Amino acid sequence: VQTIGVLTSGGDAPGMNAAIRAVVRQAIARGKKVKGIKRGYAGLLQEEIIDMDAHSVSEIIQRGGTILQTARCLEFIEPEVQKKAADICKKHGIDGLVVIGGDGSFKGAQKLAALGINTIGLPGTIDLDIACTEYTIGFDTAVNTAMEAIDKVRDTSTSHERCSIIEVMGRGAGYIALWCGIANGAEDVLLPERYDYDEQALVNHIIEGKKKGKQHHIIINAEGIGHSASMAKRIEAATGIETRATILGHMQRGGSPTCKDRVYASTMGALAVDLLCKGASNRVVGYRHGEFVDFDIDEALAMTKGIDEYQFEICNTLCNS
Ligand code: ATP
Repeated sequence: VQTIGVLTSGGDAPGMNAAIRAVVRQAIARGKKVKGIKRGYAGLLQEEIIDMDAHSVSEIIQRGGTILQTARCLEFIEPEVQKKAADICKKHGIDGLVVIGGDGSFKGAQKLAALGINTIGLPGTIDLDIACTEYTIGFDTAVNTAMEAIDKVRDTSTSHERCSIIEVMGRGAGYIALWCGIANGAEDVLLPERYDYDEQALVNHIIEGKKKGKQHHIIINAEGIGHSASMAKRIEAATGIETRATILGHMQRGGSPTCKDRVYASTMGALAVDLLCKGASNRVVGYRHGEFVDFDIDEALAMTKGIDEYQFEICNTLCNS
C-alpha cells in the first residue's frame, strides 16, 4: 500500500484518538501517506477526506471521542453505494483503509476489501461485544467511568437507606454491567444474557437485605434490559423502600481514556499499519490470551461469545454474602 486512509464508524469510544494517532504516525514511519476520512462511511461518500501528517494528531492521545467524528450510514449496505465508496478511495489514491468501529463497521470494511481496497478493522466500542477479541477500545475507560459514578450513587443511597437502580450502557451486551457488579459490589445485576430474572425474587431479596441490616440495595441494570424508571416504581410499591433509578447514559462514552485504552489502542493502530504494509486485507485486529492477533473478517464476524459464566457466578456469590 502507498496511501492509508483511516476512519471511525458507529458509536464513539474513548481511545479512538489514540488509535488514529498510532495509524498516522506508524504509517509515516513506514514511508506511507495518510488520509483521514471524516464521519465514517457517510463522510467517505461525501469525500470528506483530509491529508494527515504527524502534527495533525498532536494533543489527541488524552482526549475522548474521535477527532475524525463518527456516523452511522445506513445506505452503506447497498452494493452500489459500496462500489461508489471504493471508487472514491481509488480516486484519492487510498489503497489501504483502517476502520475503527464495531461489527457493523467491519461488514462495511469486508465489502470494500472485496472491491479491491485493503482493509483492516480495529475493535472500537465501549460495549466489549466483539466476539473475536477479549478487549475493545473504550471498554476500560467506560467501565471505570461507570464504576466511579456507581460509587457516588452508592454513597447517597446508603445515607438515605434507599434502593438504587443504576442503568449502564452496553446495548445488547452485559459486560459493563457484570464488571460493575463485581467492582461496585452490587446486590443484584441484571444482564440481557441472563434475562431470566424474576421481579418478585428481586423484591424478596431487597426486603431480606433490609432485614439483615443492609443500608442500601444497588441494582445494576444493563441497557439491554432497560426500563429502569418503571422498574423503580414497581419495586418501591412492592417493598415500601424508596427506590430511585439513575441512567448513566452517554457520560460513559466520553472522558479521557485510561492508560490501558491508550496503550492498547496505540498498539492496535500500529499493528493495523504493519498488517497493511505486509499486504494483508480483510483482517480484524483482536486481543486474545495476552497477545495482539488478527483474524479474517469473515471468520471474526462468524464468531460468538457470551459472558463469562464463572465471573457471573462469583458476582452473585461475592455480592450476596
Ligand atoms: P457500535 O455497535 O459499537 O456502535 P458498529 O460498527 O457495530 O459499532 P453499526 O451502526 O452497526 O455500528 O455500523 C456502523 C456502520 O457500518 C453503519 O452505519 C454502516 O455504514 C456500516 N455497516 C453496518 N452494517 C453493514 C453491512 N451489512 N454492510 C455494509 N456496511 C455496513
